[in-house]
Amino acid sequence: MKSNSTLELSAAALRSNISFLRTMLGEECILSSVVKGNAYGHGIEVYTPLALKSGIKHFSVFNAVEAERVLRATEGQAEIMIMGLIDNADLEWAIVNNISFFVFDFERLQATLATAKRLKRAARIHIELETGFNRTGFGRNDLQAVADLILQNGEHLNAEGVCTHYAGAESVSNYLRVRNQIRTYGEYVQILADAGVKPRLRHTACSAAAITYPETRMDLVRIGIAQYGFWPSRETLIGYLTSNKNTEDPLRRVITWKSNVMTTKTVRAGEFVGYGTTFLAERDMSIAIIPVGYSEGFSRSLSNQGRVLIKGHRIGVIGKVNMNMLVADISSIPDTQPGDEVILIGNQQDLSISVSSFSELSEQLNYELLTRLPQDIPRTVIG
Ligand SMILES: *Cc1c(COP(=O)(O)O)cnc(C)c1O
Repeated sequence: MKSNSTLELSAAALRSNISFLRTMLGEECILSSVVKGNAYGHGIEVYTPLALKSGIKHFSVFNAVEAERVLRATEGQAEIMIMGLIDNADLEWAIVNNISFFVFDFERLQATLATAKRLKRAARIHIELETGFNRTGFGRNDLQAVADLILQNGEHLNAEGVCTHYAGAESVSNYLRVRNQIRTYGEYVQILADAGVKPRLRHTACSAAAITYPETRMDLVRIGIAQYGFWPSRETLIGYLTSNKNTEDPLRRVITWKSNVMTTKTVRAGEFVGYGTTFLAERDMSIAIIPVGYSEGFSRSLSNQGRVLIKGHRIGVIGKVNMNMLVADISSIPDTQPGDEVILIGNQQDLSISVSSFSELSEQLNYELLTRLPQDIPRTVIG
C-alpha cells in the first residue's frame, strides 16, 4: 500500500561521505558510526547494513534496545558501543553479546562487575570522564577509586576505552569551554595511566570536534551527523571550508524525503487557506495538497515557512501544517497534477532543499528534524 511519503538512502552519497571522513581521519583512527535516534532518522535496519558495505565496522548507539537492533541488522559483523542507557537487567545481554558500553558512575561500575563475575566473563567498558559538559561521567575525585576497582578486577572489567563528550564543539562561542575540556581530559587520562589503567581507545570527538579540533580525534571518533551528509552547524561548515581553502561542500546528503501531490485546486483572492486565518490568498491562486504533516515529522513550525520542490520549482508551504497534510502554493506551476513528485528534503533537477533551510530557528534543527522522521516511513536504498 502506498505510504504518505518515502525516504530514499543513497549508497553512493554514503560511500562518498565515509571516504571524505576516512581521508580526514587517516587510516589508524576507528570511525564509529553513531546510529542512535534510529540512525538519525535514516532507519537502523536499512542504514547499518549499508554502512557496513561502506567499510564501517563500529557502531555507537544510545541504549541497549538500539544495540540489539544494530546487532541483528549487521548480523554480528560489527563492534557495537552503548554510549548511554543500559539497565542493570540488560548488562548480562551486553556482556554475553560482547557489546561495549560507557560506565559513568559507581552504580554502573559495581553492577557491571557483579554481572561479569556471575557470568565468569569480562565486560568491555569505556570509562566516561566528566570534563565540563556536566552530564555524565567520573570526575577527578573518582579516578583513583575507578582505577583501583578496575585493577583489582582485571579479569571481569576490560577497560577498553576512556572517553568524554564536548559541550557544543559546533559553535565557536563554546571555544574556551571545549579547550578546557580537552585539557581536563588529558589530565584525567594521565591520572588513570599513573594509577595503572591505560585503555586502548581514547575517544572524545563527535562530528564537530573531529572536524574543528583535530587533536580530539585520538584513537576513535564517534561520528553521527556528518556521515549522513549534514554539518553539525553552518559554522562548522564555514570553518572547514575556510581552513581548507575549499569552496565546495564535501558532504553529500544520504537521505531524500519524497512524497507526491495528493490533489490540487484553486483558491480565490480574499479566501483563507487551511485552519484559521494565518494564510490569506491575496490573489487567485493554485494550491497542491501534499499528504505529509507533523505526524510524519514535518514540523508545525514550518507553517507558512517551509519549502518543497515540485517540477523543479521551489514552492512555499502556506497555512498551518496539519497532522497529515500540508498545502503548497503552486501558482507558478499551475499544470501540476496529482501524483507529481514532491521533494521535502533532497534534490530535484538543480534545486535542493536542505534540512537547515527549513528554518534557522535552532542550530540543532538538523538533528531534531531527522530524528523525528517516524520509524514507519518506508526506507529504501538507491545506488
Ligand atoms: C550523538 C553523540 C555523538 C555524535 O554526535 P554528532 O554531532 O552527530 O557527530 C558522539 N558522542 C556522543 C556521546 C553522542 O551522544
